[in-house]
Amino acid sequence: SREWHLLSRPVGWPKPEDFALVETPVPAPSEGEVLVRNEYLSVDPYMRGRMSAAKSYAAPFELGEAMQGGAIGEVIASNAEGIAVGDHLLHFLGWREYAVLDARNAVKVNPEVAPLSTYLGVLGMTGLTAYAGLLRTASFKEGDIVFVSGAAGAVGSQVGQIAKLKGAARVIGSAGSDEKVKLLVEEYGFDAAFNYKSGPVSEQLREAAPDGIDVYFDNVGGDHLEAAIGSLNQGGRIAVCGMISIYNNTEPAPGPRNLARLIQTRGRIEGFLVGDHYDLQSQFVQEVGPWVASGRLKYRETIVEGIENNLEAFLGVLRGDNTGKMIVKL
Ligand code: NDP
Repeated sequence: SREWHLLSRPVGWPKPEDFALVETPVPAPSEGEVLVRNEYLSVDPYMRGRMSAAKSYAAPFELGEAMQGGAIGEVIASNAEGIAVGDHLLHFLGWREYAVLDARNAVKVNPEVAPLSTYLGVLGMTGLTAYAGLLRTASFKEGDIVFVSGAAGAVGSQVGQIAKLKGAARVIGSAGSDEKVKLLVEEYGFDAAFNYKSGPVSEQLREAAPDGIDVYFDNVGGDHLEAAIGSLNQGGRIAVCGMISIYNNTEPAPGPRNLARLIQTRGRIEGFLVGDHYDLQSQFVQEVGPWVASGRLKYRETIVEGIENNLEAFLGVLRGDNTGKMIVKL
């Protein structure tokens, strides 16, 4: 079985030398454990944080050991009650071909209900992130004008569409290519979108949102956050989901220069972690599942094949190679 190890902690952009694809024997499952052959691996921006030693909400990856991440696999041997060979499990031992795990750390998923990869994306962690961040952290309500960055990504594309489906007055998105911008407007039904690489974000946002914004869902940080504060309406809310523009920085990034605008607008900025919102999981699946099944909520996935391309797929997420959820298929 092959698995990806972290060899050294990247400084700035991760380099191939920081990692190795290592061959290891496949262990047999002990009592209560299952052996899974992974089929879909998730690569996510937060993994960059786990490659650093800095204390964060998820423990750093250990050097010289297999990295971890969301994965879906088929059970090929089971010593656990209630789990049979052929079952599919969502678990946390990605970055490898085979995994032995305690069955209590896995959730059964059904390929007849939805395609397996969707349990990592639109119906999985990134979907719940969009749902909880928009509805709970940003206190979205009907009639709001919503701006989301990283809007063609896994979380962002779902934020914009959920806002539309729930009665937003206007939804604006930003993304890093003209092709992505076109997708937002033509396929996902955003009212306006812009390419943040083709001009200052603050100007493009003012143009796209002439009546300001009530909600900003931040996936990016940096210029985007400052621009959003600049366009924030009275009582506006900013949910800080991620700040991908600074994950590879070697120096702390400067903060927004216009924070004082929060005083006059009575604006609120609040960070959140999806892990704190799993109480919304069943409500999320009940509400969003049918939208996905009926095609009212659309999603894309960028699928990269092969364990040998797992690292490139991860780097691709940081570069913006993906449209929608980036997934590695084995
Ligand atoms: P995406 O599918 O959105 O992929 C990341 C995207 O970020 C890329 O496709 C790229 O798109 C964009 N990007 C990369 N660099 C920059 C930059 N410098 N400026 C602007 N955009 C950039 O990933 P996810 O949907 O999985 O995650 C989105 C965000 O949500 C991340 O910040 C992530 O850390 C965060 N997150 C937070 C969670 C939480 O619990 N708080 C849970 C899950 C995700 P483009 O081509 O448009 O540049």
